[in-house]
Amino acid sequence: MSVEQKTADLLDEVRGALQACGVEASALQGSHPVHTPVTGQQLLSVEPHSAGDVTEMIDQAHAAFKTWRDVPGPQRGAVVKRWGELIAQHKSDLGTLVRAEAGKIVSEAEGEVQEMIDICDFAVGQSRMLYGKTMPSERAGHRLMENWHPLGVVGVITAFNFPVAPYAWNTALALVAGDPVIWKPSEIGVLSGMATNALLGRAMRDCGAPEGVHHLVVGDREAAQPLLDDRRVELVSATGSTRMGREVAPRVAGRFGRYLLELGGNNAAIVTPSADLDLALRGIAFAAAGTAGQRCTTMRRLIVHESVADELVEKLRRAYETLTIGDPGDSGVLVGPMIHQQGFEGMQAALEAAKSQGGTLVTGGQRVLADKYPEAYYVEPAIIRMPEQSAVVCEETFAPILYVVTYRDFDEALELHNGVPQGLSSAIFTSDQAEAEVFLSARGSDCGIANVNLGTSGAEIGGAFGGEKDTGGGRESGSDAWKVYMRRSTNTVNYSGELPLAQGVEFI
Ligand code: NAD
Repeated sequence: MSVEQKTADLLDEVRGALQACGVEASALQGSHPVHTPVTGQQLLSVEPHSAGDVTEMIDQAHAAFKTWRDVPGPQRGAVVKRWGELIAQHKSDLGTLVRAEAGKIVSEAEGEVQEMIDICDFAVGQSRMLYGKTMPSERAGHRLMENWHPLGVVGVITAFNFPVAPYAWNTALALVAGDPVIWKPSEIGVLSGMATNALLGRAMRDCGAPEGVHHLVVGDREAAQPLLDDRRVELVSATGSTRMGREVAPRVAGRFGRYLLELGGNNAAIVTPSADLDLALRGIAFAAAGTAGQRCTTMRRLIVHESVADELVEKLRRAYETLTIGDPGDSGVLVGPMIHQQGFEGMQAALEAAKSQGGTLVTGGQRVLADKYPEAYYVEPAIIRMPEQSAVVCEETFAPILYVVTYRDFDEALELHNGVPQGLSSAIFTSDQAEAEVFLSARGSDCGIANVNLGTSGAEIGGAFGGEKDTGGGRESGSDAWKVYMRRSTNTVNYSGELPLAQGVEFI
C-alpha cells in the first residue's frame, strides 16, 4: 500500500473518531496543519486561536467561576462522572486519535485513555471528600478549622507525548474543586484535544452545568501567553520540557500566580547483584524502548553492578533485537515512530556525542522503514555503554536511548543515580531488602517516584505524580494533589462571649 493510501486510510479513521466524539466537521479546516508521525504526512488542518480569543475565554471562564463555585462538590462530581462514562464509551475513538497524533501503539494509546477514565472515577469520589481539618483551639469557647474553597480559573498546558491523560488528571480534579479550566494542548496533539473537549461539553450539557466552565485553545506557545500573564488565571499547570518550565514559571510567579510544573525526566534504574535479571529485563525493555522512548518517565539510564552488567546488557541486546518496529496500528508492533524529524535528529546528535564521550553502541540507533515512510521517523531503540556518567547522559534526550554505566558499591550507585539535574522517576531491581529500603529512604532516590522491582514508567493514577529538581516540583493526579486546585481558608469561631487574645496578649 502506498504511503498516501495509508495516510488516507488513517484520515478516514480519524474523521470517524472525531465525528463519533461530537467534533463538528466545520471545525476541521483552518491554517494549523495536523501531521501524523505514523506516515509523517499531513492529515488535515484546523483553525488556531489568537491571543485575543484566549483572553475572551478567560473572560468567560472568570464569569463562569462565580456560578460554578456555588455548585455543590458532589454535583460537580456528577459532571466528571458523566465525562468519565463518555470517555469510556469512546475509548477506542480517543485511542485512535492518540495513536494517529502521538504514534502510540494501540494498547498504549488506549492505556492513556484508561488513565482518563481512572482519574474521573477518582475525582468523583474526591468530590465528596474535599476535607478540611478541625484543630483544638488554645482558647476556651473557640473553634479552629480550615475550609477548602474553589481557587478560580486554571490554565492547563500539555505536551505532545501524552496528549490527553495529563489534561484529564488536572481537569477532573479542578472541576470537582470548583474551578473552570482553559486547556492548551500541544500544537501536535490538537485532534485528541478537540475530541476530549467535545465529550466534556456533552457531559456538561447532560448534567445542566453552567456555560463557560471549560475551553480549548488550539495553537502554539504564543496562544498560551495570556494564560501566563492574566491575573485571573489563578493556577497554571504546565507539562512539557524543562526549557518551557523555565519560561513559564517566572512569568506566572511575577504576578504571584500559582504554577504546577511537570517537566522533563532523566530516569534511571539501579540493578544490583541480587536482582532477578529476567524480571529486570522486562521492566527495563518496556520503560526504555516502549513509546519509542518518548515518555517523561522513560528509562534513560541503567546503573548496573559490574558483576552482572555483561550478562544483563547481552540479555537486553537480544530482547531489543526482537522488538517489532512499525505502524503503531498493526498488531504485534511494539515500537511506533518518533514524533518528528527534529526528535530523530536530536537522537542522532546524542548518540554521536555519547560516542565522542567514550560510549560504545551495543545495539540500535538506526533509522528503519525510511523507504516505506520517507517522511516518518522510525528508529531502532539504542543501548550504549558509557565509561562514566558524562555530560550527554545527564541531559534528557527525548528518544529511545538507554545509557548503561556500571558501579562497584551501592553508595556509588546512589551517587550516580542522583547525579543528574532531573528528578522524576526511578527504580531499583534487587532482592536485597536493605538495598530496597535505602533506595526508598531519605538518602536514596531523590525523585518524586521511586519503584522497587518494576520500571520507571507506567504510573497508576492513585499516587501523586511528579518530580523534583529540574522536573519542576509539581504533583498532580492522585493522593492529595486535589489541594493545589483549591484555596485554604483558616477560620476561628468565638462562641465564648468574651474576647481572649491568642498567645495571652492583653489589650483593651
Ligand atoms: P514542549 O516544552 O516543547 O511543549 C509542551 C507544551 O508547552 C506545548 O503545549 C507547548 O506549546 C507549550 N509551550 C512551550 N513553550 C511555551 C512557552 N514559552 N509558554 C507557554 N507555553 C509553552 O514539550 P514537548 O516536546 O511537547 O513534550 C516533551 C517534553 O515534555 C519532555 O521534556 C518530557 O519529559 C516532558 N513531559 C513531562 C511530563 C511530566 O509529567 N513530567 C509529561 C509529559 C511530557
